[in-house]
Amino acid sequence: MTHHENQLETQTEEGVAPQAEEEDGRQIANYVVQFSGGVGSWASARRLVDNGHNVELLVACTNSESDDWWPFVQACQHDLDIPMTVLDNDGQTIWDVFRQARFLGNTRADVCSRVLKRDPLRAWLDTNRNPATDAVVIGFDWTEQHRIDRAAAHWQPWKVVTPLADPPYVEKWALLADLERRGIKPPDLYGQGFPHSNCRGCCVKAGQAQWERVLRLRRDDYLHAEAEEENLRDELGDVSILKDRTYNRSRPLSLRVFRERLESQPALFDGDDWGACSCMTPTDDV
Ligand code: SF4
Repeated sequence: MTHHENQLETQTEEGVAPQAEEEDGRQIANYVVQFSGGVGSWASARRLVDNGHNVELLVACTNSESDDWWPFVQACQHDLDIPMTVLDNDGQTIWDVFRQARFLGNTRADVCSRVLKRDPLRAWLDTNRNPATDAVVIGFDWTEQHRIDRAAAHWQPWKVVTPLADPPYVEKWALLADLERRGIKPPDLYGQGFPHSNCRGCCVKAGQAQWERVLRLRRDDYLHAEAEEENLRDELGDVSILKDRTYNRSRPLSLRVFRERLESQPALFDGDDWGACSCMTPTDDV
């Protein structure tokens, strides 16, 4: 991966981009986009660039992404034509993090995104940028106000900016169409109906509906996650990503048992349980 040095001042065609005044009166000189490699963070950056602001991309790798993730990130940077910094986390994957923490992440506790995303992103910001003049940009949209509120509290003292929560309100399918119009192929996960382009669809915060889709459409990825979960269960006991909530009781449901159940009864899963996949808002402080 290429590491791009940051530029404090990005020149536009007219010269240095103007400072922007946010609703709270803060003057923003530089927008740092927490670039996940999803359509939302690209579209957020695109909107700010189109409005003439100084924008840069900051990427933290989970090293668990799909094969088409990095080509997509590069295509987006090429399209935006702005500086990008990549934090590679020394190649650690989400499974390395779980082994080290002796804790398997789940919908309620996402040690993976704290170690591989939130902590390194904040450390980089605190070292390299200034909360008095620079803002953090997250690709949440107008349907995600609950996440925006929690992210704003979490990222203090950094100002959080979410361009897609402001008018004009745009649906995700329209953002994907924008991408294609600009000649950028969206990550396959979107075409397969996943809500986010994260961690090969194998997000530990996702629910039964998403994992059923992984098994059906990305079987190798499912089997890899299942094997990793089994290794952790050997070490840690009866832990699991998924929960079985039948009869109003919550019990661990391993990926192996869930797969075997689906292989005999394909409709036997909770189709409303999509979980809460989002790396930028913590679910718990683990
Ligand atoms: S996408 Fe899910 S599994 Fe991947 S780092 Fe974020 S919370 Fe963890």
